[in-house]
Amino acid sequence: MDERRWRAVLVGPGDRVSLGGVWRTVKATQTDRYATGGLAVIFIFEEGRPARRPATELLPVIPRADWSLVEETAGAAPVYELECVHCADRCEPTNEPSGRTAWPIDHSGLNQGHDVFRSVVTSVLRVVPHAPGGPVNG
Ligand SMILES: [Zn+2]
Repeated sequence: MDERRWRAVLVGPGDRVSLGGVWRTVKATQTDRYATGGLAVIFIFEEGRPARRPATELLPVIPRADWSLVEETAGAAPVYELECVHCADRCEPTNEPSGRTAWPIDHSGLNQGHDVFRSVVTSVLRVVPHAPGGPVNG
């Protein structure tokens, strides 16, 4: 994992930051002043309590840009379906893209004018860190 250290004030929404050894995703940040006048950053997380840190503190960060969305391959094959746009009837879901081709022809033959179908592909995606030196996607 490509972990870096950033000043707290540079961390933003979507970045992952380690506080006390626990990695959390930042939802938003705010700034505040300590009573002594120093700048503080308040981290608001997707879950759990907010945290306050001195703006200049170096924190372990995995920047948002270092994460990618990839198709999950382990036990989560894409599911293919066709849906009639006229009556919303659907073929049986299948893991084979070619497994749905007979259904719309039969459906169209049995229901005059039902000749337009929506292709629905459901796949499972996973957020993963970029491999160091690997490709950067978006
Ligand atoms: Zn139909």
